[in-house]
Amino acid sequence: MSVLYDASKCTACQACSVACKQWNTLPAEKTTFTSSYQTHDQLTPKTWTFIAFDEVYENNKMQWLFRKEQCMHCGEAACLQSCNHDAISHTELGFVVIDHNKCIGCGFCVTNCTFHVPRVDPVTNKAYKCTGCPERVGNGLAPACVQTCQPEALVYGKREDIMALAEARFKALQPLHPKANLYSAPNLQGINFTYILLREPKFYGLPDEPRVPVSVHAWKQVLRPFGEIAIAGALLTTAISFIKTRKKDDEKNAGKSRDQGVGKNG
Ligand code: SF4
Ligand code: SF4
Ligand code: SF4
Repeated sequence: MSVLYDASKCTACQACSVACKQWNTLPAEKTTFTSSYQTHDQLTPKTWTFIAFDEVYENNKMQWLFRKEQCMHCGEAACLQSCNHDAISHTELGFVVIDHNKCIGCGFCVTNCTFHVPRVDPVTNKAYKCTGCPERVGNGLAPACVQTCQPEALVYGKREDIMALAEARFKALQPLHPKANLYSAPNLQGINFTYILLREPKFYGLPDEPRVPVSVHAWKQVLRPFGEIAIAGALLTTAISFIKTRKKDDEKNAGKSRDQGVGKNG
């Protein structure tokens, strides 16, 4: 399943942020005034989505660029690959979730996420982010943020239907916005929040060609398995050495007993 966020239809009403807080029983947080209409300036363990307002000045004109920030639910997820405790997984419907029974709050997912999304709560020592509303989507409902969006800037559905809708809307938008961008991250085997943007990704602070960092690939596919083999090897060597030493000691003790026995009898 997938979600489309269409920036050309978003009015930045922020109802999606409120619905997310409400459904997930996340408390409101105090924010500071930054001389912008933007309420939150970053994701937190208790704020899993917000609308970022970017101002672009060109030809003496200012253009608002809105973008809904949340976990992108990557097909190839750097957070999942970098987690040493297998606390992160894909659900059957393709969303990326964190198992808080396994998470130890090490922050590897925070450091390695392609979009800088998860946040560790210093009180619970667990990482948090948008879950994709598994309790809703698992029961055939749309995620809370999608459900509340009035101008249909957010649409939820089967991946192929969402991609077809995204292509159609993007095509229709291009004559008016020739610099619009369909952001679907093919290098990550797709993302579950596909975006239609009014400008190139850099204007929204997004990487042009997002991908899993090479260091994460190296860790997951080479170093970690090698490390596991090395640990297993070290344990095996210790076990063999222990058995050998024990055998020698036994032989020595047996020799001593024999000698003592000979002395007594002789
Ligand atoms: S609810 Fe819809 S229109 Fe309102 S801010 Fe969210 S995505 Fe934009
Ligand atoms: S956006 Fe970050 S946290 Fe979300 S799935 Fe992708 S890598 Fe993981
Ligand atoms: S999918 Fe659910 S958890 Fe994620 S931003 Fe929307 S409401 Fe929040």
